[in-house]
Amino acid sequence: MPNTLDTAWAIAWLRLSATVVAENRMALIELDRAIGDGDHGENLDRGFTAILEKLDAEPPATPGAAFKLAAMTLMSKVGGAAGPLYGTAYLRAATAVGEAAELDAATLVAALAAARDGVVARGKAETGDKTMIDAWTPAVDAATAAAESGAEPAAVLAAAATAAEAGAAATEPLIARKGRASYLGERAIGHRDPGAQSSALILRAAAQAAGA
Ligand code: ADP
Ligand code: MG
Repeated sequence: MPNTLDTAWAIAWLRLSATVVAENRMALIELDRAIGDGDHGENLDRGFTAILEKLDAEPPATPGAAFKLAAMTLMSKVGGAAGPLYGTAYLRAATAVGEAAELDAATLVAALAAARDGVVARGKAETGDKTMIDAWTPAVDAATAAAESGAEPAAVLAAAATAAEAGAAATEPLIARKGRASYLGERAIGHRDPGAQSSALILRAAAQAAGA
């Protein structure tokens, strides 16, 4: 496994995210129907389909440019809470990696942490509020631990994805304190948060794009 991830990885990540979001469109709609308004799968699918078109039209030259392309597209094409939140995540990741042509494990962790911090800055959710943060924060923690123990980028991303999946599953018994689901009170109990689930899918796509 290589010690760094390059632009081809960033593009492959976005493409694979689009595939996975399309495959899980209905599942995400069902999750959002249970505790929201049912548009999460459709919103994200529209956004990632638009990202595919932009990748073809103007191929990015660096990982940061790929993240910026994703950010701009999601912000302009995806409504609701998730569009601006994911848009902010990719924009902060783009800023964190700057002009670098290749990302090592430490830079990757910095990008993931910046993405998470961006979602927190924008949405003000804390851990346990039953939002995408419940996937992102364990992912950042696991990625940090993996990188500190010397793991290569693909393994860092695999650790992040596994933690995000566990974090998404762990939203099921929670009462929501942010977003539409917070209006439901105890009726949100027993349902997985759609944004936490889509975050786990997207982070798994990052690991798979890296060959993990
Ligand atoms: P909307 O709720 O506007 O219909 P989506 O359905 O696309 O938007 O996205 C819902 C997801 O957005 C939720 O499942 C949750 O993960 C996430 N979310 C909502 N509000 C916040 C917030 N304040 N902070 C973090 N994530 C949030
Ligand atoms: Mg919704």
